[in-house]
Amino acid sequence: MDELLAHARAAVEDASFVCRHIQRRLDALRAMTKDDASPVTIADFASQAIVARALSRAGILLGGLIAEESADFLKQPEHAAHLHACVAALRDSGVWPQATAEEVIAMVDLGAADPAALRSPTGGWTLDPVDGTKGFLRGEQYCVSLAMLRGGQVIHGLLGCPNLPHAPVAHARADSPRGCIFLATYGQGTSMMLLGDESHATGQIARHDLGPADAARLSESVETSHTRQDVAAQIMQLAGPVGPPVQMDSQCKYALLARGDADVYLRLPSKRGYIERIWDHAAGKLIAEEAGCIVTDIRGKPLDFSRGRGLEVNEGILGAPPSLHARLLKAITHVLPN
Ligand code: AMP
Ligand code: MG
Repeated sequence: MDELLAHARAAVEDASFVCRHIQRRLDALRAMTKDDASPVTIADFASQAIVARALSRAGILLGGLIAEESADFLKQPEHAAHLHACVAALRDSGVWPQATAEEVIAMVDLGAADPAALRSPTGGWTLDPVDGTKGFLRGEQYCVSLAMLRGGQVIHGLLGCPNLPHAPVAHARADSPRGCIFLATYGQGTSMMLLGDESHATGQIARHDLGPADAARLSESVETSHTRQDVAAQIMQLAGPVGPPVQMDSQCKYALLARGDADVYLRLPSKRGYIERIWDHAAGKLIAEEAGCIVTDIRGKPLDFSRGRGLEVNEGILGAPPSLHARLLKAITHVLPN
C-alpha cells in the first residue's frame, strides 16, 4: 500500500477507536458536562486531534488539513469540562496516553488550513472527524471521514465506520463490535476491511449496475431536514421499480452503495441556499465511484471540490451505478425542473 495511504489509514483507525470509546460512555459524559450533546463534541475534537497529529507526525500534512471543527470552542473557559473530557478520552482509550490540553488544542488548530491547498499541485486533506453526529448520539451509525485532494481531484478517500457490520445491513441500528474501514484511491478501486485488521488483506469491493427492471434501493438521511424524503420517493418511483430504502446517518450511505447494500445516494436540497460541505462528500464519493458508481450533483454536474469549504456550484447529490444514474437524472428533471 502507498505509504501516505497507510499513514492515513492508521490515523482513521485510531480516531475511530477513540470515537467508539466515547460512544460507549454517552451517559457518563452527559452527566459530567451537564450537556446532552457533549459526547459528540468531545468525540469531534478527539478525532480531529488524533488525525491531525498522525498526519503531522508522519510528515504528510502536505498543503494542510481542512477540518470541520475549530478549536475556539475548546479555548473558552466555560467549556473547560469538555476539554478535560476530551483529553481524558484520548488518554484512557490508550490512543494518546500522554495527551495534554495544550497539545490537543494545538492539534485541533491544525485543521484550519486554507482550502486552496486542495486545488494546488501539492494537495491537502479534508476531514469530518465525526460525520453523522445525530447517529452518534442515537448510538447508531457515524464515521470518521478523511480525503486527500490534489488539483481539486479526490485522490484518496477513507471512511472509518465503527458501528457498521462487515456483513450486509438493511437498517441503521445494525451494530458491530468491530466496524469497517473503507479505502479508495483514484483509478485503483475500493477496499473494505474490518477496523483493526492487521492482516493487510486487500478486501477489494465492487458492485454491479442495475437494469430498468431491477428494483433499486435508496439510502437516505435519517434527518428529514437534510434532504426531501417525499420528493426522493417520487423520483425513485419514476426511475423504475423500487426496493426497500435504508435510512442511515453519515457517509456510511456511500459505503452501502459501494458494497451493494443500497443502490442510490440521493440528497435533495431542503433549504434554499444550503451549500454542501466538502468533508461530507469527498471520501464517500471516491469510495462509491471506485466501486462502480457515478457521483454528481442532481443536475449531473461533477462535484467541484476546488471552491473552498463548500460545494458552492453544486445542487444536492446523486450517486448510483451508471445506467441507474442516467435514469435518475431524467426522473429528476421531470420532478424538479430547473
Ligand atoms: P447525513 O448524516 O447524511 O444526514 O448528513 C450529515 C451532514 O449533513 C452533516 O455533517 C451536516 O454537515 C449536513 N447538514 C447539515 N444541515 C444540512 C441541511 N440543511 N441539508 C443538508 N445537509 C445538512
Ligand atoms: Mg458531516
